[in-house]
Amino acid sequence: MIAMMGFPIEEGLPFGGGLFICLSKEERVDTRLSIAVQKNGRLSEKSLELIKSCGIDFYADSRVLKASASGFPLDFLFVRDDDIPQYVADGVADIGIVGRNEYDESGAELSVVRDLKFASCRLSIAVPKGFQYTGLGSLEGKRIATSYPRILSRVLKENGVNAEPVVVSGSVEITVDIGIADAIADLVSTGTTLKMNGLEEAECIYRSSAIMVASPDMADEKKAVLSRLLERIDAVMLARHKKYILFNLPSDKLEEAARIIGGMKSPTVTPLMDEGWVSVQSAVDEDRFWAVFEELKALGAEGILVMNIEKMTE
Ligand code: ATP
Ligand code: ZN
Repeated sequence: MIAMMGFPIEEGLPFGGGLFICLSKEERVDTRLSIAVQKNGRLSEKSLELIKSCGIDFYADSRVLKASASGFPLDFLFVRDDDIPQYVADGVADIGIVGRNEYDESGAELSVVRDLKFASCRLSIAVPKGFQYTGLGSLEGKRIATSYPRILSRVLKENGVNAEPVVVSGSVEITVDIGIADAIADLVSTGTTLKMNGLEEAECIYRSSAIMVASPDMADEKKAVLSRLLERIDAVMLARHKKYILFNLPSDKLEEAARIIGGMKSPTVTPLMDEGWVSVQSAVDEDRFWAVFEELKALGAEGILVMNIEKMTE
């Protein structure tokens, strides 16, 4: 690769006082990372929001299939979620954000680099009212409609059940009513759609959330860009689970307060003008936040201020 000041030189760009260099496509090393994201659906908004909160600017229009970020070497490909694992496997994109369900169903062999913990859902067996469901064994010899035959067959096999998957690409919940299946295996997040179709969730057989997948053979330059992106994603994800808390406390209660806050190495303590009082700052896990808040109040903390954290590292 020919580079000047660390930047690759584009094909046909004049440089060096009129000298004209032409690089063939093969000679040019592309250091921009391409990411496949769902064009329109349950994953789209959160995927783009995550990347935006990493400080990466881009313009996404629902009518276009491609976009480029400015200030970070990332290009977007907006596609159907079902196609993402194969596109990454084929090298059409270097990385992708997809539901774990679609990845496992695709059979593609990629690196799962992060669980992004959004778009959580479960693949569940649902049966019509009156079906005596006592466990997966109740499905022996039955027809089960699903859009996830690979995952379903794996679970049935692991449990020694012989059943017949009926593969449908959508509207799985109507297959029992129209008589082509005895039960279904479908994605559920609340269960409302099942109920509306006279079905009951019988058992969860698989859990999914959005993951980031990456091609296992990427050029080192692209791996370096991916590491930078993951570093930012980790900082954003870590910050989402924490609150920043600031309060005043009698200094003789400091040790007790540190024990209540826990987690972090140690809180930041600043003396106050008021003798015998200190100001304390620390990050607190969001799921423990209210317990910590109440215990600190009971300990005598005053002027408690709570803030969202935008980004952080451990
Ligand atoms: P596309 O047009 O891109 O093929 P789709 O209709 O197949 O879209 P969506 O319904 O947008 O896909 O779902 C995308 C992903 O969101 C699912 O594969 C799954 O990982 C996740 N998801 C979260 N909750 C649910 C749910 N209740 N039902 C279906 N998928 C869900
Ligand atoms: Zn899809």
